Amino acid sequence: MKFGTKTIHAGIKPDPSTGAIMTPIFQTSTYVQEEPGKHKGYEYGRSQNPTRDVLQNNLAALENGKYGICFSSGVAAMDAIIRLMKTGDEFISVNDLYGGSYRLMMQIHAKFGIQSKFIDLNNPENLRNHISSKTKIVWLETPTNPMLNITDIKAICEIAKTYNALVVVDNTFASPYLQNPLDLGADIVMHSATKYINGHSDVVLGAAVTNNDEIAKELYFIQKSTGAVPGPQDCFLTLRGIKTLHIRVQRSCENAAAIANFLNQHPAIGKVYYPGFEDHPNHEIAKKQMKDFGAMISFDLKENTVENAKSVMSNTKYFALAESLGGVESLIGHPATMTHASIPKADRLKVGLTDSLIRLSVGIEDIEDLINDLDQAIKKMVDENSRIF
Ligand SMILES: *Cc1c(COP(=O)(O)O)cnc(C)c1O
Repeated sequence: MKFGTKTIHAGIKPDPSTGAIMTPIFQTSTYVQEEPGKHKGYEYGRSQNPTRDVLQNNLAALENGKYGICFSSGVAAMDAIIRLMKTGDEFISVNDLYGGSYRLMMQIHAKFGIQSKFIDLNNPENLRNHISSKTKIVWLETPTNPMLNITDIKAICEIAKTYNALVVVDNTFASPYLQNPLDLGADIVMHSATKYINGHSDVVLGAAVTNNDEIAKELYFIQKSTGAVPGPQDCFLTLRGIKTLHIRVQRSCENAAAIANFLNQHPAIGKVYYPGFEDHPNHEIAKKQMKDFGAMISFDLKENTVENAKSVMSNTKYFALAESLGGVESLIGHPATMTHASIPKADRLKVGLTDSLIRLSVGIEDIEDLINDLDQAIKKMVDENSRIF
């Protein structure tokens, strides 16, 4: 089955009791047993739910995996995966990963004796300088947020394997349509389905997918035991969103490519970060491991100030000023004051995160409207500046 057919059919069958073509929302906490221990595979809502089962099987298929395990949020999925570790184990990740992932490791799991290292993995060989027999998980995020760095998943897996470390890829930014880490040797794929997978900015949900029987067994056990499960209505909405995943991501990528080119030739714009550019440091890796270059773009302004960035972001009409990403609507955000405000300025500047850096999540609106919107907002900023000077 090809990807677009999987989004609609994989793991999904008409409801056997009614023929309903859409997976019903099984809004129930418990299930009646015929006699003690004799049931239809469903005992209690935290342990099993038919709507959740269908979503889990569908997500597994989208990532070319055998097992899908869903959670109440992306960070709950990550938290469950980290519980595969024990005190004294070491965690290694990239140095510009999602802020919530950093917080989870440093402010929750550090207390239980799990050591974390955050390193530059633009060159995968750098992993050799940090990995050891204590390393249990190498956690990748590619492309990264907000600098759009690309890590070579296959090369990292080859190094990690020699140390028996698991490789987990947070595939949220790419979506399963663009990138399938299990095919490249990763052990687990993690998603914030809140973003592209659901795609309509109306659900918070997370998932893990794996091919490994042992890991799957442990993750189902953790899911049941710690209880961060998604509700049936959210599973239903996510299944509905997935049916158009391929179409949405395709259009978002097309729009993003056009916007990246528009920004790149604009005289008021500084550097544009987009893996689709041939001069992006890991463009060739992106081309090899992704189907397209994604729909996230970051850029800064020639006149590199918070005021200028604020002016642009306050004047867009279709790009809504908000955190999050991956929805049908375009969003604009300011990492220095929003998602990455907790990182000291000197550290931010080291990775290129300037005060005027602006991040776009490009949606599926008409491209002419999106470009005109950015064009008029940038023009207003330039006009304001010329009035001052
Ligand atoms: C949003 C996000 C998460 C966290 O997911 P939630 O669903 O918000 O809990 C993790 N990783 C990445 C890359 C994200 O963008």
